[in-house]
Amino acid sequence: MDRLLRGISADGSVKITAVTTKDLTEKARRIHSTLPVITAALGRTMAAVSMMGNALKKEGASITARLNGGGPAGTILVTSDDKGNVRGYVQNPQVDLPLKANGKLDVGGAVGTDGMLTVMRDLGTGEPYNGSVELVSGEIAEDFTRYFFESDQVPTACALGVLVDRDQSVIAAGGYIVQLMPGAEDETAERLERSVQRAGAVTNMLMNGSLEDLIYKVLDGFDPKILEEDPVTYKCYCSRAKIRNAIAGIDKNELRIMLEEDKSIEVKCQYCGEIYTFTEKDFEE
Ligand code: ZN
Repeated sequence: MDRLLRGISADGSVKITAVTTKDLTEKARRIHSTLPVITAALGRTMAAVSMMGNALKKEGASITARLNGGGPAGTILVTSDDKGNVRGYVQNPQVDLPLKANGKLDVGGAVGTDGMLTVMRDLGTGEPYNGSVELVSGEIAEDFTRYFFESDQVPTACALGVLVDRDQSVIAAGGYIVQLMPGAEDETAERLERSVQRAGAVTNMLMNGSLEDLIYKVLDGFDPKILEEDPVTYKCYCSRAKIRNAIAGIDKNELRIMLEEDKSIEVKCQYCGEIYTFTEKDFEE
């Protein structure tokens, strides 16, 4: 089962959030039939958004990230609830690109760099807050790091990783976000940068140890304490009523023509693949 941990260094100068997302990324792969490079792109985005969602700490709040860098993947859309449960969608799930020279999936090539990362926070007040940054590399972790720095003005290190097996299933996935608390010393920032670098790749850490081990490694020398744990999962909030309302919003004449032709309307939820069927009776009133 996937889970999310929040911790803090013993001296209170560094905050960390870390998440495993293997199961939810595998679920997304099956729903959307993604090929490996898109599994990685969507998986990395879901790990980042899950951690941001869990930080909202407000019942009913949600956060959505939209990336489009003009690459073959098209738009990537991921939403998290206030617990870190995510759902996601990629415009072109079946993109296939050659591996990069270092043997890694070319996520940056699939996403592209000519575009924006937009984050929408909905705290349930009816006034969503939007922030966006230009994409740095399309590799996603760097793009979110820039977002945290430019939009939230918090020095942040963000690492995300998805490891895909030969049969295209997900072997490991997850990530972490470390943030310096206000007033942290320069020396702390430098020490943190070194320990993050020593820790190495997220997927290596997740393959060789627990999520707790990852935190101890990333914050080596900071004596981190784990404060909270939450389970996270792939969770869609679609319902028959919500989809019916969306359909009822389209032009009445168009709706009538569709129903006359096919006797029913089938709508597939773009996030979870659930199919809802409506007939004329559903729209009588
Ligand atoms: Zn759904």
